[in-house]
Amino acid sequence: MSAAPTVLLSVVIPVFNEEANLPTLFARLYPVLDALQRRYEIIFTNDGSADRSFELLRAQHAARPDVTRVIDFNANYGQHMAIMAAFENLRGEVIVTLDADLQNPPEEIPKLLAQIDVGYDYVGGFRLKRHDSLFRTYASKFVNFVRRRTTNIEMTDQGCMLRAYRRPIIDAIVRSGAINTFIPALAYTFSSHPGEVGVQHDERLAGVSNYSFYKLIRLNFDLITGFTLAPLQLFTMFAMACSAGSLLLVLVLAYRRLFLGAEAEGVFTLFGIVFFLLSVCMVGIGLIGEYVGRTYLVVRSRQRYFISRQLDTKE
Ligand code: UDP
Ligand code: MG
Repeated sequence: MSAAPTVLLSVVIPVFNEEANLPTLFARLYPVLDALQRRYEIIFTNDGSADRSFELLRAQHAARPDVTRVIDFNANYGQHMAIMAAFENLRGEVIVTLDADLQNPPEEIPKLLAQIDVGYDYVGGFRLKRHDSLFRTYASKFVNFVRRRTTNIEMTDQGCMLRAYRRPIIDAIVRSGAINTFIPALAYTFSSHPGEVGVQHDERLAGVSNYSFYKLIRLNFDLITGFTLAPLQLFTMFAMACSAGSLLLVLVLAYRRLFLGAEAEGVFTLFGIVFFLLSVCMVGIGLIGEYVGRTYLVVRSRQRYFISRQLDTKE
């Protein structure tokens, strides 16, 4: 099955305070897509930007109404929700996601499409050479490692948003109604023929990353708790090991009490053990809280985002 030129391509771009990058993005993205000689639409989701991003998007829509669509959120819901809103509204059969800050060069899009044409239903980009801080790079290597061990999601680079998908995968993502999700991983779970290609990665053109340390931690918690119960199971196993250890300790103490008489030494050792076990309990409560929180969000089934206005394509 090959994507003929008649097949509509949807390009999805989340935008949050990117006024400094949008002009360059427009100048580089549109020529690449025009040169493809296939029908396409670009959907920008303005994720509650506080700067002039929406004005720039509106101007771009006025300049290229044939292919430009804009979804405007009333507030900031995060990158993945912005992409989700575009997924729920797009019309294409082949879909590409990328960042607005030009860390994903638009010139790489044809590479992904070539893989889709070959027959893959999901093509992930992996960054050949990352241009992020050392901390980001190593933190993401660590999370990659945890994810590989606890889920059966196999991808070289989960953090790269430059990806292409066939429509059925997007439909499955939309139907799953996921909350706090990690789109590359979710897409992978629905794919039957995933592929990967190496892509360039540049430094952010302007501005700073929208991910604070806290947001990154949240995102990675979501990645793990959204896809696997392994942390709960590991915790239970650890708790069982602790119980076995405690039982042993009780037996030793009982033996000493009976055969050696009353002793008061080792009180501080006992404190150490008690504090350690208390902190383990607290981690357990937090962990359960993560899952209960997720369950709460799903059960509450409140609207996940609100679109305050939309600019559609015009012939
Ligand atoms: N983004 C968004 N909402 C947010 C944070 C980010 O739509 O709350 C967009 C942002 O405009 C960019 C992409 O998501 O297009 C990636 O964000 P960023 O460059 O800050 O992340 P990083 O590259 O550091 O992972
Ligand atoms: Mg970026």
